[in-house]
Amino acid sequence: MLNTKSAEKVSPVMSAYGRFPITIVKGKGSYVWDKEGTKYLDYTSGIAVCALGHAPDAVAEVLKKQLDTLWHCSNLFHIESQEKLAEMLVNLSGCDQVFFCNSGAEANEGAIKLARRYARLIRKKSNGHIVTFSHSFHGRTMATLTATAQEKIQDGFAPLVPGFRYLPYNSSEAISSLEDDDDCIAVLLEMVQGEGGVIPADQEWIHQLDEICSKKGILLMVDEVQTGIGRTGTLFAYEQYGIDPDVVTVAKALGSGIPIGAVLAKKHVSQVFTPGTHGSTFGGNPFSTTAGVATLETFKKENVLARCTENGIYLAQKLSSLQEKYPDLIKDVRGKGLLVGVETSVKAIDLVNKLREKYQILILTAGEKVLRILPPLITDKDEIDHFISKLDAVLNN
Ligand SMILES: *Cc1c(COP(=O)(O)O)cnc(C)c1O
Repeated sequence: MLNTKSAEKVSPVMSAYGRFPITIVKGKGSYVWDKEGTKYLDYTSGIAVCALGHAPDAVAEVLKKQLDTLWHCSNLFHIESQEKLAEMLVNLSGCDQVFFCNSGAEANEGAIKLARRYARLIRKKSNGHIVTFSHSFHGRTMATLTATAQEKIQDGFAPLVPGFRYLPYNSSEAISSLEDDDDCIAVLLEMVQGEGGVIPADQEWIHQLDEICSKKGILLMVDEVQTGIGRTGTLFAYEQYGIDPDVVTVAKALGSGIPIGAVLAKKHVSQVFTPGTHGSTFGGNPFSTTAGVATLETFKKENVLARCTENGIYLAQKLSSLQEKYPDLIKDVRGKGLLVGVETSVKAIDLVNKLREKYQILILTAGEKVLRILPPLITDKDEIDHFISKLDAVLNN
């Protein structure tokens, strides 16, 4: 083979990400530091991962012990921390069984595989489809980017995976069409669309969808990768909608930053994963599931859900006041708990850059005109006040 290695010097890391021009070297609580020693208030939480803040002591302590005990052994053996974390998740949800993996996309991939196998084995449907929704985000693997009903995510990756149908989100008329769709085997959706612009599902729409699913035997699968593990003030966002999904996926915050994902399912669905049907070498390993157990225990001990709800209400009130002050700049404030979107009339990235450069505050965008604010759930009123005063300053000039 010819040596086609580029003569031009390129970064050894592929350019799949646009990156902010800082290098983060340390994190503690709500703050991170760059390599020049500048301290930033981190209201990105590593994209909704560091719910307990950076390097939370309670999790760190347990992980340090685990480092001296066992890192990995594979799923060919029983793993105590995996079984413990599964039991905790089952007790905290309406699901019966858990499959562990390493990321949100892999969790959704698992959910898609479960739905297909369930349709084949239990419902005797061999070529049904899964319905997903406009502006959704379900991941970057081939099946999950196909599930993601956004052209920009799919651009360049055809042929896509067959077996998906898209409907508009929050449209009652659109889901009525499922009444006549005998090939729909499952729906997969977020309770609050995160990447797609911080768009909460309407309560009534979810009830309508839930009813249609029950009536038609369609699996209700909720992607809680971003909303789950407390981000919206309850452990799972679906709890606030009073529904009881068949399948739930989680990842981001479950390990406090140690990579882990999970597919939770009711037994009538999970039973189709018999030995040899699905797998993941690293999935649920002793280290990541120990992080998961410590994360959930810390949530309980430190009353994190109540703090998230309280902080979320406070932040939303402050943002609404800013909206009143700058009605031309702020068009909408929305979200749930500490998954907060602010729709602006200007380019969101410009505001994000100003907050970082002038005031050492980190937030994200969700699309061109939406600021996405993801504080650690353990933030406090002083930090929120600081953030609001600096956002005010940025909006003011
Ligand atoms: C982040 C995200 C994913 C993908 O998770 P990865 O860990 O990046 O694979 C899937 N669904 C939702 C709702 C997400 O926010």
